[in-house]
Amino acid sequence: ALAVNARNVYDENGRRTGSALAYQDVTELMRALRVKDEFIGLVSHELRTPLTSIYGYVSILSEREDLPEQVDRQLAVISRSTDRLKLLVDDLLEATQVAGTGMRVELAPCLLADVVAEVVVAAKPHAAAAQVDLRLVLPDDDPVPGDLDCTRIGQVVDNLVSNAIKYTPAGGRAEVRLTRCGDQAELVVSDSGIGIREEDLPLVFGRFYRTQEAAEHAIQGLGLGLAITRTIVEAHGGKVEVASRLGEGSTFRVVLPLGEDV
Ligand code: ADP
Repeated sequence: ALAVNARNVYDENGRRTGSALAYQDVTELMRALRVKDEFIGLVSHELRTPLTSIYGYVSILSEREDLPEQVDRQLAVISRSTDRLKLLVDDLLEATQVAGTGMRVELAPCLLADVVAEVVVAAKPHAAAAQVDLRLVLPDDDPVPGDLDCTRIGQVVDNLVSNAIKYTPAGGRAEVRLTRCGDQAELVVSDSGIGIREEDLPLVFGRFYRTQEAAEHAIQGLGLGLAITRTIVEAHGGKVEVASRLGEGSTFRVVLPLGEDV
């Protein structure tokens, strides 16, 4: 495989005198990237089996009524950590699978407002723990029906809402707003958080990309959520974009076509 770089060449008066083309053989680079994906895919797949059994037994144990309070609290910590680990492993596996084969979405009729509300309600305790004021604004009298892969779209909303909470310091705000314009839905997730530098804006949807600010604030993550988000949105024929100001906050906007019979 060849990568081509083209540049115009100018003389001292600024007139274009020609162009220069640089060809670079990137076969080896692409092979290395594929091997990396295969390796990550293999490891995450192997991690999933034992994790599933830990997850299952922790759930069973947590349901017992006869446990001492201290054990109950410790189980809750194990349970939260297992949840987190499971999400990370799922993200890793998904990111590598998608890189190889592309993503398939299964469209079915669903109510987008319900999908969004469910995710936001589930995120409330996280927001409260992080002291972030999380608001939800849905259209009046419109459940926004559409032909969507509602599990995947739930994942999109969850990624954006989790980020809004995660990247907003205590005392800040996050807002999730759903509106409909004709046969398209618009979902806007905004926050008053740490923000993103202008030069990072086009990069944050790349796999494993994390900003320096995210690292400086010691906020954990793999840099996969937004890559998966973009893949899901594009598989629906939609688009996702971001606007932000460093230190002031970020706004992610998703536009989704709702399908034929809306
Ligand atoms: P992760 O959060 O796991 O690092 P993501 O793919 O979700 O991965 O996000 C990629 C990067 O984009 C983050 O590491 C962070 O640097 C930046 N980012 C995403 N959402 C926000 C946000 N709401 N505010 C500030 N930075 C963000």
